[in-house]
Amino acid sequence: MSTFLELGLKEPINKALTDLGYEKPTVIQEKAIPQIISSTDDLKAFAQTGTGKTAAFSLPILQLADADNKNTQAIILSPTRELAVQIGNNIKDFSKYIPNMKVVTVYGGANIEEQMRALKKGAQIVVGTPGRTVDLINRRALKLGNVEWLVLDEADEMLNMGFKEELDNILEVTPDTKQTLLFSATFPREVEAIAKNYMTKPVEITSGEKNQGSDNVSHEYYLVTERTRYPALKRIADLNPDIYGIIFCRTRRETQEVADNLIRDGYNADALHGDLSQAQRDSVMGKFRKKTVQLLVATDVAARGLDVNNLTHVINHKLPDQIENYNHRSGRTGRAGNKGISIVLVSNKDKGKLRPIERIIKKKFVETKVPSGKEICQNQLMHLIDKVQNIEINESQIEEFLPSIYEKLEGLSREELIQKFVSLEFNTFLSYYENAKDLNDLSTRDNSRGRSSSEDMSRFFINIGRKDKLNPAKLIGLINDQNIGDKIEIGAIDILDTFSFFEVDKNFENATLEAFASNQPDFDGRSVNVEITKKDRSNGGGRKRGKKPFGNKDGGFGRRRKTENASDGGKKISNRRSERPKNSGDRKSGGFGRRRRER
Ligand code: AMP
Repeated sequence: MSTFLELGLKEPINKALTDLGYEKPTVIQEKAIPQIISSTDDLKAFAQTGTGKTAAFSLPILQLADADNKNTQAIILSPTRELAVQIGNNIKDFSKYIPNMKVVTVYGGANIEEQMRALKKGAQIVVGTPGRTVDLINRRALKLGNVEWLVLDEADEMLNMGFKEELDNILEVTPDTKQTLLFSATFPREVEAIAKNYMTKPVEITSGEKNQGSDNVSHEYYLVTERTRYPALKRIADLNPDIYGIIFCRTRRETQEVADNLIRDGYNADALHGDLSQAQRDSVMGKFRKKTVQLLVATDVAARGLDVNNLTHVINHKLPDQIENYNHRSGRTGRAGNKGISIVLVSNKDKGKLRPIERIIKKKFVETKVPSGKEICQNQLMHLIDKVQNIEINESQIEEFLPSIYEKLEGLSREELIQKFVSLEFNTFLSYYENAKDLNDLSTRDNSRGRSSSEDMSRFFINIGRKDKLNPAKLIGLINDQNIGDKIEIGAIDILDTFSFFEVDKNFENATLEAFASNQPDFDGRSVNVEITKKDRSNGGGRKRGKKPFGNKDGGFGRRRKTENASDGGKKISNRRSERPKNSGDRKSGGFGRRRRER
């Protein structure tokens, strides 16, 4: 294995890499760096995510670019704004000891004037998303006539996202003499076509076997039904109190719904998808990187290529439409030598789709059972005990309170004290999972009269009743008229004199509220008002609208947990937000999910 210096990089670059903790080149770097430095041939690189490909293309460019010449010499195109920002920041880090080397990152959704000003000052390297790059070319703010290197990063995704026309426009204004470097984790026909049309006899390199997943990732699947998918997701999160991961969904709507449900249930979660404004996306990513958000619920496109280290889990809430995307998803974890787990929540019907994925990743999925309530309690309890064991005592801060505390607890034995402390934190938690169902028992769930159990449903109050000539059929008609969703399931209906109750599948809870709020329907001349209501459940679960998720404000072990409507019946526990006082601001403003729904 060579060193970075042996690959032909100069000392200022090597020094920056040492600062970053890069000790030796990765496979793709070892192959790409000397190739690009020594040859002007185009390059086609099969590189999985997380293999160090950003450095593989940017280090040789930094080596060769002329820092004393302010012309733009390299243009790097990336499919998403987040990835462009990440690449730009990486290059800044790599070039910090090269005087006068400037990199500017340009992407949509941000102030274009500012980007134009930055470009005017001169940038040898420009990183951009295709749309904004074209825009800046058209405004004559970005001149690519002197470009020596064109990098197409995540080329497959750029084409998937429909950037073919933008790529054509950009390529048109770059000189024929440039060197094109194409990096892609998959090589479908469209990418091969790009390579064929835009590159001349490219040299091919690969960072291992094409499309093969990382060795550091283990792959598990959990069998679920549509009804147990969300409760299973929560149990996985509850089993792993320190989980730090991405939950992948297929559509923006599914992403937002899962995120909203998790936020509502008190998890440290947020959504990342294309419907959010740039400022929202930046804010979510900032929180996720700082780990104030533990679970990022994202679409494939939004999370493509994102480099966040130390992710413990990637969860496929649903399998991707294109199986190649599984590799991208699971590649978010197990990076930089760390271990990671990639989980698939899969229905019996879709289980057959795991096979072709196994062939791509060259690994077997391990069937894993959805944890029982008892397992979760045990894990959470041990996690708490570990924390107690490891907490540092700051004597000076607590010493003045200690004498009165000792006095109060004087009569208690060590055992009693431990039992009381555990009960204080865990009574609610244990009762939450006390009667939790076995979510692995698929047969009983599917035989349940084809209808959801009450636990899977959200109960709504509606301000019309028998006196308004309402009957179940009319109520169902009224609900259906709101176009809440094709697959909405309506549960129990109770028609009373002046008002009524109805249940819908809890996955449609937000959509139902939103639909009634925005449609403002009439019934027999009376304006209809719908509110979520507390469920009448024997275990005391359920939730009132507007109620704060956590009972008391002080946090810590004594913090009361929120009750929930989950179909695994009980109250959610875990550290989550309660351990993170920094988040209290978000909570006060009603959570990110709510703000977004108001948009
Ligand atoms: P990338 O595939 O470029 O997104 O890189 C994946 C991760 O590996 C990033 O966190 C990089 O900072 C890190 N990385 C890249 N090259 C090296 C290296 N030679 N040594 C250690 N870490 C690296």
